[in-house]
Amino acid sequence: MRLVLLGPPGAGKGTQAHRLEDRFDVVLIGTGDIFRENVTSDTELGREAKSYMENGELVPDDVVVRMVLDRLEQPDAENGFILDGFPRTLPQAQALETELAEHDRPLSAALKFVLTDVLAVKRLAGRRTCGRCGRTYNVEFKPPAREDVCDRCGGGLIQRRDDHEETVRHRLEVYHRDTEPLEFFFWERGLLREVDADAPEDEVTERASDALADLAEERT
Ligand SMILES: [Zn+2]
Repeated sequence: MRLVLLGPPGAGKGTQAHRLEDRFDVVLIGTGDIFRENVTSDTELGREAKSYMENGELVPDDVVVRMVLDRLEQPDAENGFILDGFPRTLPQAQALETELAEHDRPLSAALKFVLTDVLAVKRLAGRRTCGRCGRTYNVEFKPPAREDVCDRCGGGLIQRRDDHEETVRHRLEVYHRDTEPLEFFFWERGLLREVDADAPEDEVTERASDALADLAEERT
């Protein structure tokens, strides 16, 4: 199985990615990890990416694409993969498609986790993180027993900068602008499946598996 995951911030994509990785015995490839690996191992691509980041610039598509494609060549990706955080833009999706076609390993599906902006903001801007042990809470959906105090270790809860409402709204805007056009790209190819992400994690995983099974059946 070769899978791309889509969906706005807050839809629980990262969590579902890990769950699907276990279930389907494929390798999960996150762009953040690839970046770190390349920078830490000081590869040519890593040095290139770093030079952009140090200047506060976005790493260009072709550098990102080369890193991901490089990663897909590793033996552990042979059985299949789940891409989380890539592609983010249309040119990245096109580059991925071309490369996979050349290796005769086309994508199996693009799963989109659907969540409204209102819920995404509630989930993300409501998130609080323990400054000591890292456990996360949500003021609305999963509050601690005592306000702003970690149930597990008694540490103080903080709101990460990424979770400030303004930042969240900006991330959603970027998603709608840059990443949403990808849905049409995959839809045109018959690869897009939508999964309602407004449910407990277990339920969303079942929905995702069902969607993938349906798609596999349609293909046979
Ligand atoms: Zn804690």
